[in-house]
Amino acid sequence: MTRPRTPAGRAREARRRLAECYPGSARELCELSFDTPFQLLAATVLSAQTTDQRVNSVTPELFARYPTPGDLARADPDELEGIIHSTGFFRAKARSLTGLGAQLDARFAGEVPVALEDLVTLPGVGRKTANVIRSVAFGLPGLAVDTHVARLTKLLGLTDSTDPVKIEADVCALVPSRYWGSFGMTLILHGRRVCVARRPRCADCVLGDFCPSSSVPTRASEAAKSAAQKSAPTAPRRRPSGRGDVRADA
Ligand code: SF4
Repeated sequence: MTRPRTPAGRAREARRRLAECYPGSARELCELSFDTPFQLLAATVLSAQTTDQRVNSVTPELFARYPTPGDLARADPDELEGIIHSTGFFRAKARSLTGLGAQLDARFAGEVPVALEDLVTLPGVGRKTANVIRSVAFGLPGLAVDTHVARLTKLLGLTDSTDPVKIEADVCALVPSRYWGSFGMTLILHGRRVCVARRPRCADCVLGDFCPSSSVPTRASEAAKSAAQKSAPTAPRRRPSGRGDVRADA
């Protein structure tokens, strides 16, 4: 296979290969446990600065105790904080959750809105969370740019930006909208399992033969290196000095 050399080509090949490694829809690939959009929204708010496994360990009790947005809006702060304590930042997250419940009740009749513009007006919900809800809960186009997506898309040369909004725009321009959600999820899984932040495991990566950041030399990169070495100007050889040498300044 020829190596894709453009951002569009790399995006196409990365999406295709990652879909083979991590098959399924955005919903199937999401590692948070939930049944309804409201539950996913609450779980996603809790997932900040912690693992999905940690969130999944508290949400069964959370969802059973507060089954509707109205129940969450009326939650006793101490009780709610106690349930979500192990996810970290529990005071701020409890405030977001009660605010979220209240806003959903007051402005959206207790339903999670579908429009990105509405989702981002909710407490604790930024563009990333809004795109998770759209793609995972509703099956709509949405690329959630988290730390993994930001890192991998830069390493793969799909964007040169560090701004999540610009990254989203750059990557969405390269991938058909029906894949935005699942592509984002596969990037997250690949970032957790293979292209880990501190030491990417390039030797085990299915994208290694065309990733511009791979640490594993490819045949093409080796050939380019050896061509560069051959064409580099060689340093003039010094004449050996000996007894017979006549120095001009002697
Ligand atoms: S080749 Fe290396 S840097 Fe590139 S995506 Fe794979 S693990 Fe990350």
